[in-house]
Amino acid sequence: MSINLRGKDPVIIAGAGPVGCTLALYLAREGIPVLMLEAESELPEDLRASTWHPPTLDMLDKLEITEELISTGLIVPNYQYRDRRTGEYADFKMADLGDATRHPYRLQTEQFRLTRIVCRILEGMDNAEVRFNHTVTNVSQDADSVTVTADTPEGSEDLRGSLVFAGDGANSAIRRKASIEFEGFTYPEKFLVASTPYPLEDHFPGLAWVNYIADPDEWCVLLRCNNLWRVLFPTPPEYTNEQLLSDDYIQKRLHFLAEIEGDFEVKHRTLYNVHQRVAKNYRIGRILLGGDAAHVNNPLGGMGMNGGIHDAINLAEKLMMIDRGEAEDDILDLYDRQRRIICKDFVQSQSIANKKAIEAQDPEAHKKQQAKYMEAAADPELALPFLRCTSMIDSVRDSYEIQ
Ligand SMILES: Cc1cc2nc3c(=O)[nH]c(=O)nc-3n(C[C@H](O)[C@H](O)[C@H](O)COP(=O)(O)OP(=O)(O)OC[C@H]3O[C@@H](n4cnc5c(N)ncnc54)[C@H](O)[C@@H]3O)c2cc1C
Repeated sequence: MSINLRGKDPVIIAGAGPVGCTLALYLAREGIPVLMLEAESELPEDLRASTWHPPTLDMLDKLEITEELISTGLIVPNYQYRDRRTGEYADFKMADLGDATRHPYRLQTEQFRLTRIVCRILEGMDNAEVRFNHTVTNVSQDADSVTVTADTPEGSEDLRGSLVFAGDGANSAIRRKASIEFEGFTYPEKFLVASTPYPLEDHFPGLAWVNYIADPDEWCVLLRCNNLWRVLFPTPPEYTNEQLLSDDYIQKRLHFLAEIEGDFEVKHRTLYNVHQRVAKNYRIGRILLGGDAAHVNNPLGGMGMNGGIHDAINLAEKLMMIDRGEAEDDILDLYDRQRRIICKDFVQSQSIANKKAIEAQDPEAHKKQQAKYMEAAADPELALPFLRCTSMIDSVRDSYEIQ
């Protein structure tokens, strides 16, 4: 198959999420025409992802946006695994990563900060276009091009592209229309995220800005993001959404975490279904998948968006090799292998293990896990491999070794 990225047909990107935006900016900066189609009327103020890992920040340097992204958030030099009952905590210092990264910290900032930065830059580029109110509904391909159908305010429109990238999220229309299976499972419980400006750090001595708090009954994740604490809890499957989002329920959960007089001020509340799924293929001819369209996992460890951005960068590098005549189109099958296998072998298994560890019911297993974290955090020789793994540095390296 011959792929001409500089012909009259642009690379079409479905979805202006963080993954689609990363690919769009990379290609546009290389002079490739790109057309990004977004279903919403403006960039969604998506509060899901807030944790950015070091290799993602290193990669975004190439697009010259890391500094601006960092300026929107909070640099997190350490993060903790806590036992809610005993108050013990393992404190991992990101500086222990040494020279494994140019950004030895986590960044806490909402995912929409990236999409806003990218779309502002794309606006000023002649070879890039972002169309809002364009909901992709279908895709087909022939020997030379893809045709993407989008619902627009003016009716249905067919758009021709050299390739299409599905960055249209977990319910990807492109993945469905291409009949690509999304294998895996959905957890019975939903996750509730509530944000509060209340200074929870007053109730937990030495609290970091990112904390995984284990408890057999009431585990939670505490993340600081733009002057708010975001608290993530699992919820009982038998409750209705209305019950879970009620003031009563949220206040009860927050009071269990920190006993205060009166109510917590709650700025946001959202419920999420949680899945572990990976698409059977990331490439079919001129159709490519990445980000949540290709894989979804529970948010413990903050790997969904980060992994998706790693997909976009890996793919963009391979597309540029095709463009420079250094590779044929079958290098896109290597993209499929590298990113799909690493997702299954690392992101899926690590995020499932993270959930099992934080919710462990058996008191012995719970104690053993906490002791393991404390031992690793206290010994730089153990902390380094732990940090390299949880920061996704190793998974990025390992993905490029897959042939
Ligand atoms: C509670 C929670 C916390 C999380 N925290 C983290 C974290 O800290 N770190 C992390 O790495 N990950 C985290 N994640 C996961 C992260 O949010 C996702 O992995 C990430 O949003 C995926 O980005 P994406 O660009 O692939 O898809 P999305 O962000 O879902 O973007 C898809 C875009 O496509 C648009 N779209 C959808 N359908 C169509 C269509 N048919 N046509 C055109 N446009 C369409 C949407 O409007 C949207 O703009 C979290 C998830 C949850 C639920």
